[in-house]
This record gives sequence, structure tokens and C-alpha cells, in this order.
Amino acid sequence: MSETINVEELFASRVFTLGKMKERLTRQVFAEVKRVMEQGGELPLSTADVVAKAMKDWAVENGATHYTHWFQPLTGITAEKHDAFVSHPDSEGRMLMEFSGKELIKGEPDASSFPSGGLRATFEARGYTAWDMTSPAFLKEDATGVILCIPTAFCSYTGEALDKKTPLLRSMEAVSQQALRIVHLFGNREATKVVPSVGAEQEYFLVDREKYLQREDLIFAGRTLFGAPAPKGQELEDHYFGTIRERIGAYMKDLNIELWKLGVTAKTQHNEAAPAQHELAPIYESANIAVDHNQLVMETMKKVAGRHGLTCLLHEKPFAGVNGSGKHDNWSLCTDNGVNLLDPGDTPNANIQFLLVLACIMRAVDTHADLLRQSASDVGNDHRLGAHEAPPAIISMFLGEQLDDVVKQLVETGEAAHLIEGGKLETGVSTLPDFEKDATDRNRTSPFAFTGNKFEFRTVGSADSIASPNTTLNAIVAEAFCEAADTLEQETAQGKEFELAVHDLIKEYMTRHQRIIFNGDGYSKEWVKEAERRGLPNIGSMVEAAGTLTTDKAIRLFEKFGIFNRAELESREEILYETYAKTINIEALTMINMANKKYIPAVVGYTRTLADTVIAVREAGADATVQAELLGEVNVLLAAARKALKELERVTAEAGAMQDARAQAFFYKDTVKEAMEALRTPVDALEMLVDKKVWPVPSYGELIFEV
Ligand code: ADP
Ligand code: MG
Repeated sequence: MSETINVEELFASRVFTLGKMKERLTRQVFAEVKRVMEQGGELPLSTADVVAKAMKDWAVENGATHYTHWFQPLTGITAEKHDAFVSHPDSEGRMLMEFSGKELIKGEPDASSFPSGGLRATFEARGYTAWDMTSPAFLKEDATGVILCIPTAFCSYTGEALDKKTPLLRSMEAVSQQALRIVHLFGNREATKVVPSVGAEQEYFLVDREKYLQREDLIFAGRTLFGAPAPKGQELEDHYFGTIRERIGAYMKDLNIELWKLGVTAKTQHNEAAPAQHELAPIYESANIAVDHNQLVMETMKKVAGRHGLTCLLHEKPFAGVNGSGKHDNWSLCTDNGVNLLDPGDTPNANIQFLLVLACIMRAVDTHADLLRQSASDVGNDHRLGAHEAPPAIISMFLGEQLDDVVKQLVETGEAAHLIEGGKLETGVSTLPDFEKDATDRNRTSPFAFTGNKFEFRTVGSADSIASPNTTLNAIVAEAFCEAADTLEQETAQGKEFELAVHDLIKEYMTRHQRIIFNGDGYSKEWVKEAERRGLPNIGSMVEAAGTLTTDKAIRLFEKFGIFNRAELESREEILYETYAKTINIEALTMINMANKKYIPAVVGYTRTLADTVIAVREAGADATVQAELLGEVNVLLAAARKALKELERVTAEAGAMQDARAQAFFYKDTVKEAMEALRTPVDALEMLVDKKVWPVPSYGELIFEV
């Protein structure tokens, strides 16, 4: 019935892969390209010309008419400006499609409208995009036609990063250099590079497009700003891993095909905890490519939804009262000769390289818990973090029973003599095999959990780029590796035995940073108190987190490894305040608009109907008490809604007039958001009272159950 899908043939068919380059370039040019890709440096212009021509020919053969430097400004999404491969016609009016090495390597989009946090005054609005050879070019197809997309980094005229990719690439180099020092000390001399690997599990909601279009809050804010809970939520836990409905299945199939074409290894798909919520996970890859691919995943999810009469919501909290969406960022470090530094092996207690790496990560996360928290904050994520569902806003590490015990032994006695075994899990059915029990049990409430051979950073928001969390992770771990390598190199130079030096360092780090380990329930109130006792930061919101970027500790860290300079950090903090203020302002204006134009008129109309009914019933000589009571109740809520609306209008105007970005962001958080809640409460209560036929927008039940 259904056509066969040849995944092997489809896969990366829209990507200018290394394989395609090899086919289309001379051996010498290809070798040059590969060398720059692996070792950095610049391609000579003559070589770039050859590569550009091959890339253009391939793109044109596949229907491309335009190319774009595809980049990731600080808006968190991607940007592109299309240029046709069109050139001056010759004297006979013939036009040949052209694309030069210069155009491939460097672009100059008008950068004045991207957020720069004051780094780039508009009078010198120049920003440059530079080809990132480590991420392959690909073809995007939509109504515009076929566009050749060239992944690029985006910098200012003076070299400051204006995007998310530049610092990510810098952080990858930093962690590679420092991790290499560690593996070299342990005798792995063949490794020339250590690459952070990342696999991002993406959660999303799907709603019916017709219904979506009836809700301004979904259109403008990406989340519902009003809405009474449906009679049923996720309490039956019948959606998680449930059978995938036909319409959703057709969507997932289509989505996979589109992603495979783009070289994204879409691997797992399932229903998530909330109704209408789903997840997709690709296979992990180099952090840089994983970041690019996650952007493509988000974009493709939205695009494909349209074809199925659906809308994909990537917001962290589209619906109050049911789970929000996140993005589990799985992260590990692998050498280019195949060693995963986070692989404990069968006997982690005896694997001292692994234990040192673990000790360094404990040190990194404890020292910079605030920065890690910041790296995963965005406006939408404020609704999840610390709100009893996603990981809490407090950063802690989960190691699982076995490793936890190893750490305890090391801290207490300086030795880890024994190992808790996973043991066998007996199924009790003779026809089923018994399983080896995993020694790293799962703890779903931990924000930073060790899961076998990687850490899973679960705090990241679903709509956010994964560039910042990975940049921060790489940076803080680079710092810890650097300190450890410094110490070990010094001590061994002074004659201390290497094994002993490593051993002492592991014990020291684990003892000093043991407070970051927490294996209990991260959602509990007790943990908040316990974390406070331990002195772990509990940063409640994105605006409070923004300031962590410019502490002396943060500036020292990022400047030391050339990832951000002070000006870049200050500008990023500024942009966060601006983004926050703008986003909440849009939400407030949307609420005002919906209340004024939809909810209040609908309820006013309804009171009129009720009043008419009361009169009619009384005239008929019957008792109209119930009708009159209902009218009274509705009237009270209507008055409350109107009062709250006026207050929201007042504070939103006040917020808009503020000059200082930080103060303004805090005002939006503390005052405007509260006024928004105050308006939502009576409107949601009215939704429960008013005749369904007159309610002006689709309900939660219709949005999340009728997809
Ligand atoms: P879960 O059971 O939590 O869904 P999976 O094994 O499905 O875990 O992995 C989730 C994600 O982690 C996938 O994207 C997967 O490719 C990625 N992943 C697996 N191993 C590693 C690793 N060593 N480093 C980084 N990511 C990894
Ligand atoms: Mg997972």
C-alpha cells in the first residue's frame, strides 16, 4: 500500500557531504579541504574558487537557484539572506550562473537589525559571515525554491562574535586542547583532537492548525496565555509511549524523510508525557553539527506540520497544568582515536583516567553551576525550571548508585576497593532472557545526570538553541582539565609519582565538590532547603541568571580560553534583558488584545442573554433564582477581569517607558507578569461558567485532545 522508503538512498541526499566533495574535486584540492577542516586554518582563494564551483554545480544540478550564508544570530534561531547565482549577462545577453570562492568564504549581510547588545553601533553596521567548514552545506527546499545553505559564523567588523556558533567553535577548541593534555598524560599519544559529542532529544507539541489560528496567544506568543484546564490532563499517564495516532504517524514519517535528506539521523520517536506532546532524537554527533542539526530539526518540525494541517509548538510551556517541553542535551568527549572519556568501562573504580575526568566535571559543574543554569535559560523555560516538572533550577549532578558509591569510598578512604554490581534482572519467564541490570539507575528529576557514558543535561528549553549550553559545558570542563593538567605536570616535574599525583587530585576534587552530587528527588521542597544549606545557587529566572555572565569568575573563565571577551559577555547580558522585556511585552499586549476584543465582549453578550432569560422566566411566572445567581457570578468575574485588564494596561505602559534594560526586565518579571496572572485568573474562571457556544476561542480540551 505505502511506497517503500529507501533510507540509505535518501540519507544526506540534500547535503554536500565529504563523499560528494571527494567525487567532484581533484585529489589535491580535496586533501587541502580536509586538512583545513580537521586542523583549521584558511583555504587559499584559488582553492576556494574550485570548491565553490563544485558546490554550485552540485546545487544547481539539484535545482538550486540561490545560495545563502546560513547563520545563528543571538535571536536563537537561524538567519538567511538569499542571493541568486545570477551574474552579469554577456554581450549576447546570456547569463551563466556563478559562485566564487570569495562568495563561499565570506559574506556581508546587513547586520544592523540583529541584536548585538551595543557591540555594533548601527553606523558601523557591518557584520561578516564566514564559512564554517566543519558543518556541511545543504539544500533547503520550500516555496522560494531550492536554496544552497552554507553554515557560517557571524562576527562584527572588529571580530567580536555576534552569533552562537563562533563561541561554540571556540569552546570546542578549548576543551579539545585541555582534554588532550589529560589524555597525553595518561599515555594516549596518538590522539590529536578531543571532540564533544552531542545528541539532543527534542520535545514538541502538535495542535490542529485551524484551532491554532483561532488563538492569538498561540500565534503571537507561542503559548496559551489563557485557558481553563481540561477535565482530563496527563494524570492517567496514557499518552507517554502510547500508540501513535494516524495523523501524527503520517507527520512523523514525513518529518523523518525530510530530516534524513538533510543528513539528520532522526532515530527515535515517541509520544511524551503530556497529551499532544511528542519527542524526536537523532544519533549524537560532533557538537557543532549537532547544534546546526537541532536548528534544522526545529525548523523542519514546523514546516512539515503545515503540510498535515498541524502546527508544531516548540515553546517550553504551551499549556498550563500539563508538562512543558525540554531538550535533553546528551554530552560526552571522544578522542579522535576512539576513546570516550566518559566511558567508565566495567570497573570504574579502577579506571583512574575516567575518575579524574569525572572529578574534573564535578569541579566544573560545582564551580560554575550558575553559568550552567544561565546557559539553559530562556523566557519560556522560566515556566518549567523549579516548577515541579522539569529539572529544578538548582543545578546538581546525579551519578547513579555505583559511581556514587565509588566517589564516597574515594572521599572517605582514598581508595575505591569495591564496586556495587548491577546484578541480573530476572524476568521470571523462562522464554524471556534475563537482563544485566544497569548500574546507573535513572533519576528523572536530576538536571545533570550521568547515563552510562555521557552526561544528560536536562535543563535546556525546547525552543532554545543548544549552542549556549554546550559552549558553557565545554568551557567549564576545559578550565577544570587545564587546572588538573597544570597540577599534574607540575607535581610530576617535581618528582611526584604520576599515579599518586592523580590519585591525590581525584580525592581532593571529589572531596571539595561532593556537595554538587544529589541522588534524591529534585522536585521536592526538602531539596530546595538542602541545596541552600549546601550553598548551591538557586536562580529562579532568566533575568536573575543573566548577571552570572559578567561576574569576575565568568569573565576570567571565558577570557582565559578566548571564548568570550568582557565586551561580548556584557553585550550578551544586555541582549538577554532586552529579549526578556520584548517577549513579556508581546505576551502582555496579546492578553490585553484578547481580553478587550474577545473575552470581554463575549462575556458581556452572555450577561445580556442571561439578563433576558431572567426577565423572561420571571414574566412567565416562574422562579428565576438560578439564572439570576449565575448572572451575578458572571458579573462579579467580569468586573474582576476588567479591573485586572486596566491594571495590566497600566503596568505594561509603565514598563515600556523604562530606559534601563536590566531594571526594565526585572519590572516585566516582577510586576507585568503578576498583572498577567491576575487577568488570567478571572478569565479562566469565566471559561468554566460561560456557555461553550459563546466562548470565543478553542478550549484546552479541544487543543490537546482533538488533534
Ligand atoms: P534515552 O534512553 O535517555 O532516550 P538514548 O540512548 O536514546 O537515551 O540517547 C539519547 C540521546 O543521547 C541520543 O541522541 C543519543 O544518540 C545520544 N547519545 C548516546 N550516547 C552518547 C554519547 N556517548 N555522547 C553524546 N550523546 C550520546
Ligand atoms: Mg532520554
